[in-house]
Amino acid sequence: MITISHLIKSYGDTRALDDVSLTVERGEIYGVVGTSGAGKSTLIRTVNGLETPDSGTVEVDGTVITGLTGGALRAARHRIGMIFQHFNLLSRRTVAGNVSLALEAQGLPRAARKARVAEILDLVGLADRAGHYPAQLSGGQKQRVGIARALATNPSVLLSDEATSALDPETTASILQLLARLNRELGLTILLITHEMDVVKQICTSAALMQRGRIVEAGRLRELLLTP
Ligand code: ADP
Ligand code: ADP
Repeated sequence: MITISHLIKSYGDTRALDDVSLTVERGEIYGVVGTSGAGKSTLIRTVNGLETPDSGTVEVDGTVITGLTGGALRAARHRIGMIFQHFNLLSRRTVAGNVSLALEAQGLPRAARKARVAEILDLVGLADRAGHYPAQLSGGQKQRVGIARALATNPSVLLSDEATSALDPETTASILQLLARLNRELGLTILLITHEMDVVKQICTSAALMQRGRIVEAGRLRELLLTP
């Protein structure tokens, strides 16, 4: 579902990505773990087309992302959802308004938007919060909105950039359980980055350990002896 081949990205003398290759199969929950500065966020931003590598390619669900620009990149990104550590919600839009953003960009008619927003909020357990503003929500609820927004356009892949790092352990567990359920029920493929080995142990089927821009170990979780 995601094929990352020989990515190289430098910032001045820093090699943020130093020949990174990995493959995420359809239906997997794949974790990339490493300490701060390892290159995780550069990697996931490249998968979403937010960052252009110096060389190498990324293919998501049959589309080569690297090298796309303009409308073609925007269309491809509607097939890729992304969630963030600090949720990145628009504070002046309601929960429903945040979730409907990508649907508006796609030009979906108003009635269809409303139906889809209601459906997706129900899926993440926020049906009763549609009219609330982000400031009225807990951290866990905000991340559920982030997940609903990411999934509104029914992408085949969800990217998670430290999505539980700002949450307490109990809320983290409930968000990870939600991701695991969406993986099971929707067949959603998930690629997540985290600095917490515990997150990987809780939900990932496969994982890679990243250090100084390189993947130093990778495989099915049960076959890995991860020692970060
Ligand atoms: P991680 O997400 O694992 O903390 P990053 O991908 O953010 O790692 O960073 C990898 C390396 O690239 C670090 O040394 C970081 O300082 C550097 N880096 C990342 N983004 C930039 C940038 N925009 N400009 C300069 N250096 C950067
Ligand atoms: P905002 O004021 O933040 O832009 P709106 O109330 O205008 O938010 O709603 C934005 C989008 O969310 C619209 O597409 C609307 O159809 C949808 N929406 C609004 N309220 C609900 C609701 N209770 N359930 C489902 N969808 C809703």
